[in-house]
Amino acid sequence: MNNYALSVQHISKFFYEPKKFQVLKDISFDVKQGEFLALIGKSGSGKSTLLYVLSTMDTDYDGSISINGTMLKGKSQNDLAAFRNRNIGFVFQFHYLLPEFSALDNVMLPALKLKQKPDEQIREEALENLNLLGIKDQAFKLASKLSGGQQQRVAIARALINEPAIIMGDEPTGNLDSENTKIVFDIFRQLARDRGQTIIAVTHDDDFADNCDRVIELADGKLYR
Ligand code: ADP
Ligand code: MG
Repeated sequence: MNNYALSVQHISKFFYEPKKFQVLKDISFDVKQGEFLALIGKSGSGKSTLLYVLSTMDTDYDGSISINGTMLKGKSQNDLAAFRNRNIGFVFQFHYLLPEFSALDNVMLPALKLKQKPDEQIREEALENLNLLGIKDQAFKLASKLSGGQQQRVAIARALINEPAIIMGDEPTGNLDSENTKIVFDIFRQLARDRGQTIIAVTHDDDFADNCDRVIELADGKLYR
C-alpha cells in the first residue's frame, strides 16, 4: 500500500514484431493525488505505449502499477475494464466522439454504460460538465457540427463523467490552436486544484509542460526526471 494516486515500479515492455525491441526500460515514478504531470519526449520515445500501460488498456508488461493503492497485476480483463471505467478518464489527440450523436449524448455514454445512476442524474451531471468546460450551449448540437476546440472539450467532459481519480491525456491539445490549448490547460489545472484529480498529459507544447507541476521525459524508452 502507498498513498500515491499512481505508483509505477520497474515497468519494462518489449515488442516482438518485426523484431524484438525494448520499448520501455525499467520505468519507475510516483504521482501524488492532485498533481498535474507532463510527459514529454521525442516522437517514438514510448509515451503512448507507457500511457496505454498506465491506463490498464495494455497488460503485456513487466513490473507493477498501483492506482490509489490498488495493484493492477493479476486482475482479469473484466475487472480491469470495470476499474478503468470508474477510475481513469482518457483523452486522446483525436477525440473519437460519435459524430452523429449530440455533444450531450457523447458525454453521457460512459456513465450510461456503468449503469450506476439514474439516466436523469447522468444527464444533469453531463450538462454540468459541459458547463464547466464552457460549452453547455452546444449540448444539443451533433458532435460533427462543433469546432475542433469544442469537440475536444466535449471529449474532456466525457472523460470526466464517471469522476475519475486520474485523467490521462495522449497529446490532448495536439490538434488544437494556442487559444484552445490554453483553455484545455486551464481546465486541467482547475480539475487538479479544485477537485484533486490527478492529471498526466503527454505534450509537445513547451508552454503547456512548463506550467505543469512537474515534467518527466522519456528518451529511447528510459525515463528522465
Ligand atoms: P510516442 O508516443 O512517444 O511517439 P510510441 O509509444 O507510439 O511513441 O512508440 C514507441 C516505439 O514503439 C516506436 O518505435 C514505435 O514504432 C514502436 N511501437 C509502437 N507500437 C508498436 C507495436 N504495436 N508493435 C511494434 N512496435 C510498436
Ligand atoms: Mg504517441
